[in-house]
Amino acid sequence: MIKELIVNLSILISAISLGTQLRKEYDHLKANPYTHQLTFGFLTGLLSIALMYFGFIIYNGSVIDFRNIAIMIAVIHGGGISLYVCSIMTAVFRIIYFGVNVGSIYGVILTIITSIGCWVIASNRLRDWQKWTYCTLFNTVAASIVLVINHFYREDFKFILSIFIIASTVVSAITFSYLEYCFMMNKLYVRLVKESTQDFLTGVNNVRQFYKVLKQLAANAVDKDEKLSILVIDIDNFKGVNDTYGHNNGDIVLKEVASILKASSRSFDVISRNGGEEFTVILLDCGKDNAIKIAEKIRTNIEKHSFILSNEHEIYVTVSIGTASFPESTGDIKRLYELADEALYESKKTGKNKVSHV
Ligand code: GH3
Ligand code: MG
Ligand code: MG
Repeated sequence: MIKELIVNLSILISAISLGTQLRKEYDHLKANPYTHQLTFGFLTGLLSIALMYFGFIIYNGSVIDFRNIAIMIAVIHGGGISLYVCSIMTAVFRIIYFGVNVGSIYGVILTIITSIGCWVIASNRLRDWQKWTYCTLFNTVAASIVLVINHFYREDFKFILSIFIIASTVVSAITFSYLEYCFMMNKLYVRLVKESTQDFLTGVNNVRQFYKVLKQLAANAVDKDEKLSILVIDIDNFKGVNDTYGHNNGDIVLKEVASILKASSRSFDVISRNGGEEFTVILLDCGKDNAIKIAEKIRTNIEKHSFILSNEHEIYVTVSIGTASFPESTGDIKRLYELADEALYESKKTGKNKVSHV
C-alpha cells in the first residue's frame, strides 16, 4: 500500500508542478474568467481521472482513490465552473471505466456529494487553508459513510476505516503544503519579473527595460522601414524642489510627471524613467514633425499642471525635452538616444522649459 500511496502522491505533485508552471506562463488567461475556469476544470478533471485510474486496494478488496483532492483543487483554486467540469469528467469516467454497477453508483453519488459540499465550503469567505481543512474533513466523513455502508459487516471494518482516514489526511496535507509552496514561488517569480523591468517609484519601465525595448524597436523599425523617435525629458531645477519641499515631495512630483507622460502619449508608446528626474518616451512609427508635436504637448501639459504636495502646497514645474528621429536625424538608429540627449542639452543651455530637435 505504501508503494501505491507514493505513486498517487507523485501524480499529485507532478500535476501541481506542471499546473502552476502553466498558470505562470498563461497568466493572461485569468483576464477571461470563463476560459480560465474551463481550462482549469478540464485539467483538474484529467487529474481526477488519473487518480481514479491509480486507485488502489487498501486492504482485502477495499479500493480507495484521491479524486476528491482534484475536486478540492478545482473548486478552491478555480471556482464553480471548474468544479462543474471536473466533477462531470470524474463521474463520466467512473461509469465508463468501471461499468454500471453498485460500486459505480456509490462512486457517482459520492462525487456529487463531495462536489456540493466542497462548493458550499469554498463559497464562504475563509482562508485557503481553512477551506482545504473543512473540505478534507467533509470528504473524509462522506467517503467514510460510503465505506461504512459497503463494509460494516466485515470484521476488519474498523481497521479499513482507520487506514483510509490516515491515508486521506496525510495525502491531503502533503498536497496542500506543496500547492501553497508552488503558489508562493509563482508570486515571487511574478514580483521578480516586475521589479526587474519596472521603476519602483513611478511604475514605468526602468532603464534596463528601456535599453531592451529600444533595441527591439530599433531593429523592427530598420527591418520594416518605419520611423522611430525618442524624447528625452528632464525636470528643470528639480534639485530645488527636493531642497525646498523635501525628498518625499520630490517623489510625488516624479510620480505625477510619469502619469502626465502616460496621459500625453499614445497607449503603445514606451515610457521609461532612465534615472533621477530623467524620463524617455519612445514613439513608434513617428517622424520628426509628430515627435515635436507630442513633445510640445508633454511640455505644456506639465507646465500647466499644479502639483499638490503632502503639506497641501501647490507648485509648478517645467521640463526640458530633446528629440531625435530616425531616419530624419540620423541613418544610424543606434545613435538616436545619444542625439536626443544632445538635443536635451541644447534645451537646457538655451533657457530650459523648451523642446529642441536634432
Ligand atoms: P537641471 O534643470 O539642470 O536639470 O537641474 P536639476 O536640479 O533638475 O538637476 P540636477 O542634476 O542638479 O539634480 C537632480 C536631482 O534629482 C538631484 C537628486 O537629488 C534628485 N533625484 C534623483 N533621483 C531622485 C528620486 O528618486 N527622488 C527624488 N525626490 N529626487 C531625486
Ligand atoms: Mg533636471
Ligand atoms: Mg537630470
